[in-house]
Amino acid sequence: MGLLVVGSVALDSVKTPFGEVHDALGGSAVFFSIAASYFTDVAVVAVVGTDFPQRHIDFLNAKGIDTTGLSVESGETFRWTGVYGYDLNERDTIETRLNVFEGFHPQIPAGLASSDLVFLANIDPELQLEVLDQVERPRLVACDTMNFYIEGRREALLETIRRVDVMIVNDSECRELADEPNLVKASRAILEMGPHTVLVKKGEHGALMVTGDGFFSAPAFPCESVFDPTGAGDAFAGGFMGHLARSGDIGASNMRRAVIFGTVLASYCVERFSVDGMSSLDPGDIEGRFKALKGFSDFET
Ligand code: AMP
Repeated sequence: MGLLVVGSVALDSVKTPFGEVHDALGGSAVFFSIAASYFTDVAVVAVVGTDFPQRHIDFLNAKGIDTTGLSVESGETFRWTGVYGYDLNERDTIETRLNVFEGFHPQIPAGLASSDLVFLANIDPELQLEVLDQVERPRLVACDTMNFYIEGRREALLETIRRVDVMIVNDSECRELADEPNLVKASRAILEMGPHTVLVKKGEHGALMVTGDGFFSAPAFPCESVFDPTGAGDAFAGGFMGHLARSGDIGASNMRRAVIFGTVLASYCVERFSVDGMSSLDPGDIEGRFKALKGFSDFET
């Protein structure tokens, strides 16, 4: 099944207790598409400025990612600066410079409007809605967001959520969106907003999938070295949607497998800065952690 992502393509400056990078390749659509590229053909719709290095586009293309929907506009590329403390589950956004995103309106190329699976990665929900108006009956639409939009664009975000099948959020976004401290109640409140599935990412504590029928709880892969959690959520979504696209199956039990593939891709993402941890995986790496995760939470009753 064809997979389309619309999101940010960014130059990120990130500081963690273990080092820092300046203007490194990042953005929600980038982490997502690299993770998904290990499973399926994936196409990106986004915008960059004329300062965006060609080598990054070459890198995405070398991973088989379709960048025909990546427009280059005069101006500077979106920039995001974040700092992590000793607890890598907590981060502060120091600066968000929308730059070319300010005047951006996504144009879905004709050949991509019929994509079966669509991921609305983290961007302004007004733009997510513009995408939903252009795609032709996808089989499944998933959506991510962040506090920046929950606080600044709530009405448009609620309209987007009403129109998607799967909402993918981290734990603090889940609480903030639902205005409810308990994650189970908050997830149920988001189900009431429209989606049939809510996927809550809990960093090193794993992920929780909530549907009207019940729960699926997945542990995180126990990584010994975590350098930079930036993009882990998008990598998770990329592994999740990538597996659904590869298998062509969006049924409940395959969604569980997809959560585990998402968990595996996120685990590689956090091990190095920027996209480096996911830049050259082989299928054996992914299958190895997929199988290991089953063992980590299997027990006899
Ligand atoms: P994650 O760690 O999964 O939340 O994703 C981090 C990525 O999201 C970074 O690479 C940023 O460039 C990107 N990002 C941060 N803030 C925004 C924003 N307001 N809109 C779109 N993308 C963003």
